[in-house]
Amino acid sequence: MFYGKRAKDEEVEVIMLETEIYSCMDNACIGWMRKDFVTDDLLCPMCGNEMAAEIRELPKI
Ligand SMILES: [Zn+2]
Repeated sequence: MFYGKRAKDEEVEVIMLETEIYSCMDNACIGWMRKDFVTDDLLCPMCGNEMAAEIRELPKI
């Protein structure tokens, strides 16, 4: 676990988290989605191809 100082509301502090995402299996496509937001059919929002799960460091939301 990471314990940083608690960010105040007015501070813009970017916290990077290892996030489960699905990325498009088409190498020519940059489409990906956070796991929380994928559609039920797990298809790429940009090209409709299948997506594969992976871990990516993303800003906490
Ligand atoms: Zn795609």
